Amino acid sequence: MQVGRALFNDVMVPNYNPSSIIPVKGKGSRVWDQEGKEYVDFAGGIAVSCLGHCHPNMVEALQEQSQKLWHLSNVMTNEPALRLAKKLTQATFAERVYFANSGAEANEAALKLARRWAMDKFDEGKDQIIAFHKGFHGRTFFTVTVGGQAAYSDGFGPKPGGVQHVTFNDLSSLKEVMSDRTCAVMVEPMQGEGGVVPGDKEFLAGVRELCDEHNALLIFDEVQTGFGRTGTLYAYEQTGVVPDILTSAKALGGGFPIGAMLTRADIAEHLKVGTHGSTYGGNPLGCAVAEAVMDVVNTEEVLSGVKAREAMFRKELSRINEKHNVFAEVRGQGLLLGAALNDQFKGKARDFLVASGEEGLMVLVAGMDVVRFTPSLVITEQDIQEGMARFERAVERVVAAQK
Ligand code: PLP
Repeated sequence: MQVGRALFNDVMVPNYNPSSIIPVKGKGSRVWDQEGKEYVDFAGGIAVSCLGHCHPNMVEALQEQSQKLWHLSNVMTNEPALRLAKKLTQATFAERVYFANSGAEANEAALKLARRWAMDKFDEGKDQIIAFHKGFHGRTFFTVTVGGQAAYSDGFGPKPGGVQHVTFNDLSSLKEVMSDRTCAVMVEPMQGEGGVVPGDKEFLAGVRELCDEHNALLIFDEVQTGFGRTGTLYAYEQTGVVPDILTSAKALGGGFPIGAMLTRADIAEHLKVGTHGSTYGGNPLGCAVAEAVMDVVNTEEVLSGVKAREAMFRKELSRINEKHNVFAEVRGQGLLLGAALNDQFKGKARDFLVASGEEGLMVLVAGMDVVRFTPSLVITEQDIQEGMARFERAVERVVAAQK
């Protein structure tokens, strides 16, 4: 069958508008499309492919598990799920794990757990969930409502109630709405979709203090920042703040769909038998792959390598900027970096993405003003240099078109 971009419009729901590039093969940080054109991948499928494409350890884990057992219901449990949960609890503050299939589902579980915890321990009136403008937590109706862009949750009828939004990195705006009615605060330690904006240390510490003062749970959404992306297994380790619940997905499976909610035992016990669940959550294939990913990512070599690669990205971006003057700043942490466009190029992030594609490079945007980079955590220096050479040519194209 001839499969091209035109077919998308005939057979797919039009909620996406994908590029005309159709990648068919990937190896490490290189990808090839239907025509055999090669791309350097600085996007990693939106912070997912943390070990690049077809990493041998992941391929081996998937092949091995695929010959043993693919699926069980949650009436049974399985070895890969228990092994992965054990490793996640050993490596973090958490004592209990719930597996889901995506970031949104991990967040959905976190929000439901927080509500149930508050009802059990306090009363039905303690139902307020506070989150931040420009935050992003997924597309289920609860999580998209908690996310801080009303445009994404408008137009679907009545929204889940008890959700309020305040300004990120502004403790006073949180203080104003927080009370003993607050059951949880959900926050990304660094906003990803919202423009690659790190949470200030003092802000995050202040959020923790307010949660303690009002007996509210602190939920860190580490779907984008987690699994080595910022140079530690989870970003909270560098903030000085320990959350009550943490959610993980994306890089957790390195490309295989899996999500997880991590929490303490005293909180977890409120999701009693039958209160929540998922057919595929904890699927043996997903857990086997995630364990293989974790065994590579959660090592000193890879985590310190993230910092070294961050330095290379920053050096190259500032070199390009000195020549072409397009960015106001480069921000972020580890390999979640955002180049914020200066006033002259504001609103044109997509132009840089399109020009990069033409030059054989995959990048991302975060809103209209930020070009985002979320490459593999083990991308080689040679791929960084080659990708940056292509990015510079893309920048030259956008600058030339502006004149
Ligand atoms: N939370 C954050 C911080 C994210 O960046 C995303 C996806 O971009 C999600 C949640 C949703 O994850 P998923 O698309 O796997 O449901």
